[in-house]
Amino acid sequence: MFVPDAEQQSLLEKEAHRLYGLLSSVSHNNGEKWSLPDCYKAAFYTLRINRLKKEKNAIILAHSYTVPELVYGVADFSGDSYALSRKAVDTQADIILFAGVWFMAETAKILNPSKRVIIPAGHAGCTLADAITEEEVRSLRAAHPGVPVLCYVNSTAGVKAQSDVCVTSGNVFDIAAKMPQKELIFVPDLLMARNLEIELAKRGVKKKIIAAGGSCCVHNKYKVEHVSVLRRKYPGIKVLAHPECHPEVCAAADYVGSTQAMTDYVAQSADKIFGVLTEQGLVNRLEAEYKDKTFIGAFGICSYMKQNTLDNTMRALLNPSPDQEVQLPAEVITQARKSLQNMFEMSR
Ligand code: SF4
Repeated sequence: MFVPDAEQQSLLEKEAHRLYGLLSSVSHNNGEKWSLPDCYKAAFYTLRINRLKKEKNAIILAHSYTVPELVYGVADFSGDSYALSRKAVDTQADIILFAGVWFMAETAKILNPSKRVIIPAGHAGCTLADAITEEEVRSLRAAHPGVPVLCYVNSTAGVKAQSDVCVTSGNVFDIAAKMPQKELIFVPDLLMARNLEIELAKRGVKKKIIAAGGSCCVHNKYKVEHVSVLRRKYPGIKVLAHPECHPEVCAAADYVGSTQAMTDYVAQSADKIFGVLTEQGLVNRLEAEYKDKTFIGAFGICSYMKQNTLDNTMRALLNPSPDQEVQLPAEVITQARKSLQNMFEMSR
């Protein structure tokens, strides 16, 4: 058993209290709040990981849907896919450790081909990214000649390489509206495709959306009844939904937006209680950052995101396994990069 000396004990105590200051208002999945003993356990890892980061000139990007001990304990930046992909472009670090799912780490590699990109959770999947293959996108193109392909960022590198423009939940509506064509192929989120049709119609933009793929296993579980229950139980609640939810749920919510847009909405709102129809990680972030407000989450746990832990983050930094390191063929990187660059251009 590891027994710290006096100096290590003092560092551990300081780190545990730092974490407790950040996490004491954050709920575990069982509803209990983070305690000081929880923070001591995390501090053992965060001290070591933060030291390793410096030694190896590594940067840690953590998606908001991972776990609070990564987001607040070791991440240099946290946010949604779009914010993190922008950070990945700017970094001077030699190693990018991406706490998220595999397609996100691939995106960081596409944007930084010369850097080592590692992911603690290894080949962690995503029901959206896994819903369509590059061959299926090729077939769609062949069936609809001349129709451009928009791919949601939650897609594999191979699918991005077969697409014209990548989009995120934060810019999908604006980019689709800017496309000059009357028809668009949209992959791989069928629910977002329906939300896109509705939003374009609201803006008076006429386009036919040819959609293929699947849905997010977290967001597709929300039903209109959940919104009704929240409103009944918490009068005055503001309900926020993600565009990966069913259109009926989006219509019943008070606000629909990406995780960043939801955070901005909370920051600007005078309301005190919010129902958050997305992944629990965002609920945890809002609890940590807006301690005077109350957030009601609902069973939204992404088991893929939660595969990133302090333990496998430390191991990945020490000595990544082949499964934890992203390798992509050069031609896939070149092609996929074009669709991301087109997104950056079109979101200016
Ligand atoms: S929350 Fe949904 S879209 Fe995000 S990684 Fe998990 S399965 Fe994929």
